[in-house]
Amino acid sequence: MITESPKRGITDRILMLRHVTATEVEQIRPRILRVRLGGQQITDVRPGQHLRLKVREDSMVLRTYTVAAIDIRKQWLDLWIYQPSDESTPGLDWSRNVAPGDPVTFMGPSGRFVVQPDAPYHLVIGEETAQVAFAAILGATKPSASVHGVVEVPTPDERLDFPRADELTWTYRGDAPAAQSAGLLEAVRALPLPSAPGVAYLAGEAKTIAAIRTHLVTERRWPRRSELTKPFWTPGRKGLD
Ligand SMILES: Cc1cc2nc3c(=O)[nH]c(=O)nc-3n(C[C@H](O)[C@H](O)[C@H](O)COP(=O)(O)OP(=O)(O)OC[C@H]3O[C@@H](n4cnc5c(N)ncnc54)[C@H](O)[C@@H]3O)c2cc1C
Repeated sequence: MITESPKRGITDRILMLRHVTATEVEQIRPRILRVRLGGQQITDVRPGQHLRLKVREDSMVLRTYTVAAIDIRKQWLDLWIYQPSDESTPGLDWSRNVAPGDPVTFMGPSGRFVVQPDAPYHLVIGEETAQVAFAAILGATKPSASVHGVVEVPTPDERLDFPRADELTWTYRGDAPAAQSAGLLEAVRALPLPSAPGVAYLAGEAKTIAAIRTHLVTERRWPRRSELTKPFWTPGRKGLD
């Protein structure tokens, strides 16, 4: 059941509809749009959690987006929307039309893909869509915590600036597909890491995540509990939540 009244339970909070306004819309990269949402209902949201956005006015079509940055005191949060193609799909259509001043409705937040403060070290791995989650996670690490990682993007143009991005290895796959990326797996294999496991955050395309996880578990002997995974998309599937 969807309720519009604020309640204390976590489930009610997740299902509550929140009404905010798009306050800034900026094309930060050729295929990445930043949308800032503002309003009094931006409370109790953590960076790295995700929201379910109503992307059609006339029906309850929802798409999930990660909170890249947030200022609870000033009551805004930023979403980064990837625009991988010119197709007409609900999320892409919404991103092409949203403008400052537009009302926006979302459900959430939910998700535990957030920084683990006691991690011995942090390892982030993913492709361009994962950058939004890594921005949130790395922005929340302690300065003394060590950070490792590989991010694969098509070209340097698609690389985003976010906290501690310079401490990561960046690889460029050109026109090769992001799905089941062999290049990303190879780069992770070559990554020097401490001998003991840390906490891994694996995000982006689902099959690539599965392959990286298998590598960590079988080749590096990491326990499964040391890996947090967040598949955002995979070819042919609509909505992975
Ligand atoms: C937990 C979670 C967090 C997410 N966070 C974000 C986020 O912060 N930013 C964001 O942009 N998206 C995010 N997504 C993905 C988002 O919810 C939508 O799936 C995506 O925007 C596509 O929606 P659509 O309506 O345009 O296309 P759909 O009609 O849902 O799908 C159309 C096709 O596009 C393909 N597709 C989707 N994304 C890509 C891609 N990056 N590259 C190539 N093909 C793709 C799908 O596989 C599908 O076959 C997240 C998803 C989940 C589950």
